[in-house]
Amino acid sequence: MSNVKVNRRKFLKMLGWGGAGTALAGCDMPTTVTLEEGKEEVVSYLMPEEYVIPGIGVWYASTCTQCEAGCGLHGRVREGRVLKLEGNPDSPINHGNTCLMGQAGVQAHYNPDRITSPMMRKGGSLQNVSWDDAMAELSKRVGSASGLKGDRFGMVTGTVSGHQAVIIDELMSSVGSKNHYVTEVVNTSVWSAVCRDMLGDELPTLNFDKAGVVLSFGADFMGTWTSPVHYMGEYAKFRKGKRGALIQIEPKMTLTGGNADLWLAANPGTEGALALGIANFILDRGWNVNDVPSSVRKSLQQYNLSAVEKVTGIATDKIKRIASMLTERGPALVIAGASTENHENGYDSVASVMLLNLIMGSVGSTIEANSRFPEKSMRAKQGSSKDLLLLAKSLKAKSLDVLFTYNTNPSYSAPAVLQLDEGLSNVGFKVAFSMFPDETTVKADLVLPIFSGMEDWGTHVAAYGAGEPTLSLQQPLMEPLYKETRGFGDLMLNILKMRSKDFDKFADYYGYIQTAVVNMPANVVGSVTGDHADMWTNILQTGVIKAKGEKGSLTPKLVEMKYKPQQENAGYPMHLIPSTGLGLWDGRHANLPWLQEAPDQISKVVWGSWAELHPKKAAELGLKNGDYVRVTSASGSVEAQVYVHKGIHPDAVAVPVGQGHTEYGRYAKGRGVNPMKILNPLMERRTGELATYATRVTVSNAHQHGKLVHMGGSEIQMGRKFVRTVSADSLRRTEGEV
Ligand code: SF4
Repeated sequence: MSNVKVNRRKFLKMLGWGGAGTALAGCDMPTTVTLEEGKEEVVSYLMPEEYVIPGIGVWYASTCTQCEAGCGLHGRVREGRVLKLEGNPDSPINHGNTCLMGQAGVQAHYNPDRITSPMMRKGGSLQNVSWDDAMAELSKRVGSASGLKGDRFGMVTGTVSGHQAVIIDELMSSVGSKNHYVTEVVNTSVWSAVCRDMLGDELPTLNFDKAGVVLSFGADFMGTWTSPVHYMGEYAKFRKGKRGALIQIEPKMTLTGGNADLWLAANPGTEGALALGIANFILDRGWNVNDVPSSVRKSLQQYNLSAVEKVTGIATDKIKRIASMLTERGPALVIAGASTENHENGYDSVASVMLLNLIMGSVGSTIEANSRFPEKSMRAKQGSSKDLLLLAKSLKAKSLDVLFTYNTNPSYSAPAVLQLDEGLSNVGFKVAFSMFPDETTVKADLVLPIFSGMEDWGTHVAAYGAGEPTLSLQQPLMEPLYKETRGFGDLMLNILKMRSKDFDKFADYYGYIQTAVVNMPANVVGSVTGDHADMWTNILQTGVIKAKGEKGSLTPKLVEMKYKPQQENAGYPMHLIPSTGLGLWDGRHANLPWLQEAPDQISKVVWGSWAELHPKKAAELGLKNGDYVRVTSASGSVEAQVYVHKGIHPDAVAVPVGQGHTEYGRYAKGRGVNPMKILNPLMERRTGELATYATRVTVSNAHQHGKLVHMGGSEIQMGRKFVRTVSADSLRRTEGEV
């Protein structure tokens, strides 16, 4: 933090204390545009405002909007420009840290492909229009409370929380529609459903720091699972002192798998059987911690070592080793993520993993009840792929007349077989609230360009609050770069004002948030005291409000579990893994050159797609690094260059999600392939989620070769011992074999 003392009241006055909310941290910019005259007025820094010292940065608190984790930020602002982001140390989620996607938030803000004017479809193409024309069209279509009514209105967004969730709810209830589709391809919906059913809490707090051993069935908690920056911090504590042991079971090595002491690839989709086999072995040896009903014990007996080896492909000595590590290195924490969740029987597999937790007595030690944010309407509405399927169904059934889209790109994410694009053409009036011309935005009838996360106001409540329910404030770090952009909240408020006079009392979204925050009940604004002005100042300065959340209690259910095998598909012998990673995420960051340039954590490939194959499979097909392969499912095919790596199951092929955009600006468009497009529309049976890991494919040689662009150079040491080696004895100790 800079030690420059800024007169905060002066700064707040600038912000428009009474609710104007348009003058921002960036108001000290030397060059300003006088809107009335359309001329530039150059102001010399020889007479800067008192809070501006040229060359010296000042830090302001805000919230990261690059993914749903809700990390707190500090943004460094110099001469009216935001230059650098760091984590807010006061945030209980990220404790002062950020990930590479968070760092790249400034690149989203300064991106040259931002939409800078409202656009309306005229004669088949989108054309720039004035805000007056755009709002007049919006008013005509949705402004009348008697005109737009009921379920023929839909809104599709990514995960929303805080006052954004509240104001969207206001709009949905004003229209009388329940069709708010909250879509996220990267999600933990199945894990949450199992936690709700078996523990009584959807997102219990996971105490990595109290665990001696973590067994993860495909939960990439350092990459894409729940709250990566938070868990990276927890992982660091877990490894300090008496070093905890990490075991990762997954068909394709993730960032977390790459850090594990023991990494194993079970046959894809058989993780549930492995969990039950480990549980049975532990019970058989009498190593368990908890009392287990005899019916459960009995049901587990069929999962003996040889039966489980046959199903999972994991050798019996490895199963024994995992069981002994869990009991000898405990307390244990057992978790499950994407590669276990996203199958047709994903729920049963995750429930089997949870049963292992209950047998090990994790509840009350490494797993505790969550403290929920007290104000229910502001809690995160977590996105799911189930909503993507429901959206596609509604569009196909022509049941929507008006659709709003915000902060999501279903046209990119939906498998081709869902025909979502065709469905979109059935909607009479589509409005995109968007920063970029992505695949969904370019199909809209009206495009409303919105502020970046660095320019807008907001409040956020993370779904995973790390045991400390917190409201994180998003405040603008600088003036909007483009004068013809608007805040999403302001636009929502304007629409509500068109429909009802109840909202006229709020000058703008800033005023709405400010009024709402300072008037929140004492149990919500627990960490903030004083009169309204002091409270608001405090919140602006710290960026977080630690609420007095009520800690629930867990009610574990030790019930019988059964492994249900996945369906075989003789024509398609390989398993397709549409892998996601910290970087391009679900494809939303493919337009950021920093993240295109950041090597994938495992393959080190940059700026493109690849198909990861095990050396055995590559040899079988006569393939080497850089050769092209065709990956074909019943729903389509993609071609990509091969990356040969031992960290994948021999019967699997992984193609990363993120590339293959047909729109989305100069850095993303026309680069690589999108594996989501060839997924079959299979659903997880209990939750209705899209079973993204269940599609079976063939892999064939496409008989082409090119240089694979990756930053790894050679993957062998050429005998030069750059990497330290460990003795077998020391390795066994790390793995827990004592
Ligand atoms: S995990 Fe990374 S991208 Fe997501 S909110 Fe935190 S810093 Fe931002």
